[in-house]
Amino acid sequence: MAHSTTSQDASTRGIDCPNCLVQRTATGEGVFARRALSAGERILDIEGEPVPAPTRHSIQLNLDLHVECTTAIGADEMRARFPWRFLNHCCEPNASVVGRTLVARRAIAEGEEVTFDYTTTEAVMAEPFRCGCGAPRCLGEVRGFLALTPEEQRARAKFVAPHLKAFLPKSQA
Ligand SMILES: [Zn+2]
Repeated sequence: MAHSTTSQDASTRGIDCPNCLVQRTATGEGVFARRALSAGERILDIEGEPVPAPTRHSIQLNLDLHVECTTAIGADEMRARFPWRFLNHCCEPNASVVGRTLVARRAIAEGEEVTFDYTTTEAVMAEPFRCGCGAPRCLGEVRGFLALTPEEQRARAKFVAPHLKAFLPKSQA
């Protein structure tokens, strides 16, 4: 988007992600593509500090491993160094977490918001919320993978993180 130039200039200190940046949304902040991304392309790596329990912004990477930024830093530095903390949930997202990497699920246009499905990494959300993503199969209430119905869990089998695969319902085939 043409009007993103000034916000990029304001956050050029620190380590800016070449693929995405944090911008305001109607309801808060989110992560937006800085350039067109191809399906399967790496967007960013989820790097931070390991914490034993989930927080509002952490991402779960294993059963007892959540990644957060607990260092006291300013808001601009937080957006530049830890953009993944600003990712918004969508029930039919355009990106997925693979290992420690956020990967484009499909082609993402420059300026498009990047989203992922929290229930593919989070077993139990620290702060459940009502989703208004508007997807045809929106969950409504997002509480984590373990709160999904067996049908909703099966629908996520392809994208769910390895630490949640053991909780997938047995196939009836
Ligand atoms: Zn939704």
